[in-house]
Amino acid sequence: MSLLERQIEEKTSTLSSIYSKCLTVSICSILCCLDDLLCCVYLCLNQLGPAYQGLELGVGETVLMKAVAQATGRQLDKIKAEAQEKGDLGLVAESSRSNQRMMFAPANLTAGGVFNKLKEIANMSGNSAMNKKIDIIKGLFVACRFSEARYIVRSLAGKLRIGLAEQSVLSALSQAVCLSPPGQELPPAVLDAGKRMSAENKRVWMEEKALILKQTYCEMPNYDAIIPVLLKEGIDELPNHCKLTPGVPLRPMLAHPTKGIGEVMKRFDEASFTCEYKYDGERAQIHILENGEVRIFSRNQEDNTSKYPDIISRIPQVKKENVRSCVLDSEAVAWDREKKQIQPFQVLTTRKRKDVDASEIKVQVCVYAFDLLYLNGESLVREPLSKRRALLRESFEEKVGEFVFARALDADNTEAIAEFLEQSVRDSCEGLMVKTLEKHATYEIAKRSHNWLKLKKDYLEGVGDTVDLCVIGAYLGKGKRAGSYGGFLLACYDEENEEFQSVCKILFFKIYTFLVSMLCSCIYMFNVFMCDPPQEHILPKPRPYYRVDQSAEPDVWLEAVQVWEVKCADLSLSPVYKAAMGLVDPEKGISLRFPRYLRIRDDKKPEDATTGSQIADLYKKQQQIQNQGEKQDLEDYY
Ligand code: ATP
Repeated sequence: MSLLERQIEEKTSTLSSIYSKCLTVSICSILCCLDDLLCCVYLCLNQLGPAYQGLELGVGETVLMKAVAQATGRQLDKIKAEAQEKGDLGLVAESSRSNQRMMFAPANLTAGGVFNKLKEIANMSGNSAMNKKIDIIKGLFVACRFSEARYIVRSLAGKLRIGLAEQSVLSALSQAVCLSPPGQELPPAVLDAGKRMSAENKRVWMEEKALILKQTYCEMPNYDAIIPVLLKEGIDELPNHCKLTPGVPLRPMLAHPTKGIGEVMKRFDEASFTCEYKYDGERAQIHILENGEVRIFSRNQEDNTSKYPDIISRIPQVKKENVRSCVLDSEAVAWDREKKQIQPFQVLTTRKRKDVDASEIKVQVCVYAFDLLYLNGESLVREPLSKRRALLRESFEEKVGEFVFARALDADNTEAIAEFLEQSVRDSCEGLMVKTLEKHATYEIAKRSHNWLKLKKDYLEGVGDTVDLCVIGAYLGKGKRAGSYGGFLLACYDEENEEFQSVCKILFFKIYTFLVSMLCSCIYMFNVFMCDPPQEHILPKPRPYYRVDQSAEPDVWLEAVQVWEVKCADLSLSPVYKAAMGLVDPEKGISLRFPRYLRIRDDKKPEDATTGSQIADLYKKQQQIQNQGEKQDLEDYY
């Protein structure tokens, strides 16, 4: 057995099957070359580069079907019907043989070759781009062997579904470089002072290393920057080379929901904390680069710079002279200039999303700044909030209705907080964000941390946090509602298994009430999708990644394309619904009781829906609170 084979066997044996798939690729690639490793990582993640650069293939399903039809000589209608039936164009492509006759068999596909072709497709624009894209796809298709066509078509459709989440890729990468550091013959990782490390020590050691990579990736989510350093300098050196950089969006810190002021007081105990208004708008991560350029990123790291030319133009007026570069965390909120007041979130959603012309802006926004993550070359994420906030206030000045600091109260008594919470609601906010100031008060990138607690007005009505769920089916109306839909099946998303798990049925009359009561553009979207879901979203059968009990099966299956924010009375264990199955009870899932539709979350993709483990946490929290008894609950609210 060669050294390489021995190394691979040893390393893969420690991993689950999903994991080892990626690790094996990584190890082999590391031992081969940097470019191959980068391509493998991006192909595994179905990305063409750093997500924030937003490079997209621009190949719709119809074009893809056309390419498959042309390459196989099959009729487009047949391909369409089979894809609809199988729910996976990849499988159709795999089972359709190429009809292209060639003098010589095309060369076998390589990871690098496929990746470059995909990038070529993404970079094409202009008149004949679509035909050129189809030609490239056909070229790839005829060279496919075994199951390659399935995965190439799935990659092109953006639905790879190989059960590999980004966190697993990061763990696999870190294990690969630790266990076979490039340029060294024997992996020192498995040796401890000349002896073999115990299995437990090795596990702890590898987890520590993986954390270095994961943290670095949070600050610099770019494999093009990370992987060369990983291979050349090793994992320990990563934080010195790949740092938070203005222009590169970082994933935002998120807050934990709480049920009342009592819970906040208990959690923070002796720690000093501040309460800030929780504004209801859109998160805006504002980056000021050394060259003066300003970029704005969304909660999901999308580039919103061209959406907010008005914010960009006011930055020079509010930034103090000493600020050369920085990263601000803030909320952009719709603002009525005449009445000088905040407008509801729905008004903000009517604003154009891209390439906005400043002279045509109808919905004005005010920026509420609440954090400073980077200033003049220094990352501040390891500093406590008290320091970050002081620097924020020193570095910017307020301008009414344009740029102001989030309203805050550093109180520690229940009455003052209850009053502030009520005031926040009167001032058109959703409630409060409560944040530690000194102890455990660092900015936790990409984490839902207990250092930030959210206290929404909804909680005062006795309900936990709202959840964001994906619509996967519809039930036909009965009686008076015959001929239209009477309800919808909603699901949460389980990251681990990459599946949508049913969590509740929402009834039409609740939605109807909503429709009548809401007078904004979202009615239109809602109506279009819900009362009459577009034909292309209707499926002949459930996707293989829908987990739904037979007894809850809807009359019509829908493609998971839209996320709804939903509020419920409480959560209960359910033998029918599949959410969080196995996390709280080995055989039962969790369902929402009396769910009520609030709004469409068009800033969230189906995979950003509330996860099964979050549903399990909400359920556990509810149980804990119930166990504390009625009296405690009442005290908690006020
Ligand atoms: P999450 O972002 O926690 O996944 P979500 O998208 O449903 O959940 P909310 O539960 O409404 O959002 O609360 C978090 C959001 O509140 C933040 O992402 C941010 O956009 C917004 N926000 C408003 N005011 C503040 C503030 N003072 N501090 C931090 N975030 C705030």
